[in-house]
Amino acid sequence: MIGETVLSFGTAGIPHSAEKRSSVAGIARVRALGLDAMELEFVRRVAMGGKSARAVCTSARDNRVRLSAHAPYYINLNSQDPEKVRASRERLLKAARVAALCGARNVVFHAAYYHDDPPPVVYERVKAQVQSIAEQLRAEGLNVCLRPETSGRPSQFGALDEILQLSAEIDGVSPCVDFAHLHARAAGGVNTYAEFGAVLDRVEEILGVDALQDMHMHVQGIAYTQAGERRHLTLAASDLRYEELLQALIDWGVGGTVICESPSLEADALLLQRTHHSLRNKRGGSKD
Ligand SMILES: [Zn+2]
Ligand SMILES: [Zn+2]
Repeated sequence: MIGETVLSFGTAGIPHSAEKRSSVAGIARVRALGLDAMELEFVRRVAMGGKSARAVCTSARDNRVRLSAHAPYYINLNSQDPEKVRASRERLLKAARVAALCGARNVVFHAAYYHDDPPPVVYERVKAQVQSIAEQLRAEGLNVCLRPETSGRPSQFGALDEILQLSAEIDGVSPCVDFAHLHARAAGGVNTYAEFGAVLDRVEEILGVDALQDMHMHVQGIAYTQAGERRHLTLAASDLRYEELLQALIDWGVGGTVICESPSLEADALLLQRTHHSLRNKRGGSKD
């Protein structure tokens, strides 16, 4: 490895212990906790106006907190209803525009459902839509990176290879790898050091080694059935082998951001950060 890769840990949304339920208070709390990142949760709708977004931007810069944003859940770029596709595009564009005002570069989104369509057909539809959304954002001069997320259910578009392929084929698109989702989507698979390493090898194979230094990830506990994700859990309550995952991130030289979407938001984000630091100090932090 050349130099030291930096991994920022943070919360999906405002920490529970923040003084107020505002993004600015959330950023201050993230800094006070010693975390380095926060994802703005625009998951129901994008309600933030321009003035608040600029205040959020200033606060994140002053507190050295790396911001990202999660677009609304109600996005389905494979809807049979053209009106729903249009509304999905608008939601993602709006999330990206507000994210840019906040100084957030990465915009996470859930792309689509398969319904009964063959995955390759869905892939082409999703690709055409994401490509045109990325072009639109570029035309507006916005420096944002669209991050389609690996999904937690086999019925949802977002297998690892689909997300990596989109990232390879479209400028301005990179993956959001939700490791809990990969684990749930595989009904309990993707849960060992070797399997986590294979995911990272796949990222490198399709996107190149630079992609490993600029990863955006979600890590939390998860409950699942054969049909995939049921709900998020705390790390303690789940079977996700997060220490092995963190060790793989260290050994593969992964940099970027780890956002924790646990119900025990900041406690688990801190647990991941602390564990990562102690593993890194123990082993010196490189497979080379
Ligand atoms: Zn998500
Ligand atoms: Zn996620």
